[in-house]
Amino acid sequence: MSVPILDVVDLHAAYGRIEVLRGVDLSVPKGAVMALLGPNGAGKSTLVKVISGQKQATSGDIHLAGVHVKAGSKGTGPDDLARVGLCTVPEGRSVFPNLTVEENLRLMSYAGVPAGAVLETAYGYFPRLHERRNQLAGTMSGGEQQMLAMSRALASDPALLLLDELSMGLAPLIVEELYDTVAQIAASGVSILCIEQFARTALRVSDYAAVMSGGRIVATGEPGEILETMADVILGGAA
Ligand code: ATP
Repeated sequence: MSVPILDVVDLHAAYGRIEVLRGVDLSVPKGAVMALLGPNGAGKSTLVKVISGQKQATSGDIHLAGVHVKAGSKGTGPDDLARVGLCTVPEGRSVFPNLTVEENLRLMSYAGVPAGAVLETAYGYFPRLHERRNQLAGTMSGGEQQMLAMSRALASDPALLLLDELSMGLAPLIVEELYDTVAQIAASGVSILCIEQFARTALRVSDYAAVMSGGRIVATGEPGEILETMADVILGGAA
């Protein structure tokens, strides 16, 4: 079996004295889409923060494509993580509201990526961004802003994409559309870990699912199996 794109072992993290990650073990196979599901407060966003270098772990190990990126309390900077191919689309999106769509995308070329390639990828996956390329990002709908946030993440040609609550505040139809694109992105060879409240939608495009509860992974398996055995945990909120 090939080396997993992401391997998390016995990861612990806390806010002050309150331990929120209590020994997380999670492995995402290379090329797979994995949904990370679970009730509010389970620790999903905290796990994303630790994996993406925004928060320090208290202990545990993370390997990205076989590279050890974090051990114990020693943090790894976002630059180092980007170099091993990790890119995060954070909860709540992160576009520059006073720049146009195209300016937002062109900013990525300052990060060393040719602007032409960034625009081609973005407009290829999201034709609507091309239609609205001269519009200020802050005036676009939530779904369109999410498309832009995803495009900016794709610009760095990631090996692993972390998607935190793509659906946040969006209408169900747009969420379905975004996940159709997630499936296309995965088909191009990008591995994806998506944290999602809309469990059924995420499972539709996932190869595997992991369920988190109380700061630990309590089940992993194929989508059908997880839907059958963990429905009470994962469908507690929006289905
Ligand atoms: P949700 O789906 O509601 O975002 P989640 O599974 O992503 O939930 P986290 O956001 O990781 O869960 O939160 C896990 C626990 O950590 C919760 O009890 C939350 O209140 C707490 N927590 C999160 N962020 C902080 C913070 N900055 N300071 C203190 N406690 C926090």
